[in-house]
Amino acid sequence: MNLSCDRKNDGQHGIDQPESELRIEIIRSRRKTVEIRVNVDLSVTVRAPLRMSRREIEEFLRKKEAWIRKNICRMEDERCFFREQREQFPGPEEIRELKDRAYLVIPEKVAYFAKILGVNYGRITIRAQKTRWGSCSSKGNLSFNCLLMKAPPEVLDYVVVHELCHRKEMNHSPQFWNEVEKVLPGYREPKKWLKDWGNVLIQGAGTSGE
Ligand SMILES: [Zn+2]
Repeated sequence: MNLSCDRKNDGQHGIDQPESELRIEIIRSRRKTVEIRVNVDLSVTVRAPLRMSRREIEEFLRKKEAWIRKNICRMEDERCFFREQREQFPGPEEIRELKDRAYLVIPEKVAYFAKILGVNYGRITIRAQKTRWGSCSSKGNLSFNCLLMKAPPEVLDYVVVHELCHRKEMNHSPQFWNEVEKVLPGYREPKKWLKDWGNVLIQGAGTSGE
């Protein structure tokens, strides 16, 4: 299979061409649906039900070829973006700007989602942190990392909803994720984004501190 991101040859590289650049890992488990995921290293992980044959999986992948191709390209773009980001990481000046922007945007978002969730909260603090994206104290004081302003908006929404859901569940139990999902049905995407790219943003922060 060749699903590499070669824009010039778009449409000519078929999924059933001889194995080449694309690395696909198939994991079968007791699940009911198939999930395809493009990883940061541009490999593809396919999670499939036990009963699905190799042929059926290949058939499925063929149908999803355009989607896979698009997502590999997107991942490649993100990689380029972050490589550049890393070289020009914000100094104290930019951190201050990010904080100012965060104070304009985040409290509004918190108010919006708190209303949907039906929860209250205390103070909101914006920090430049190396270890976390947000936190929620037992008293309901919320803290957010100003570096979130450099992430896609869906990621910021996710972190806000995540912290507010701790007003209902002070843990990461299935009930907690259930609450998150009720408000943000697509929360797995931004959650994955943080897992893939969060470290790049946060590690850079190590050079400029709070
Ligand atoms: Zn949490």
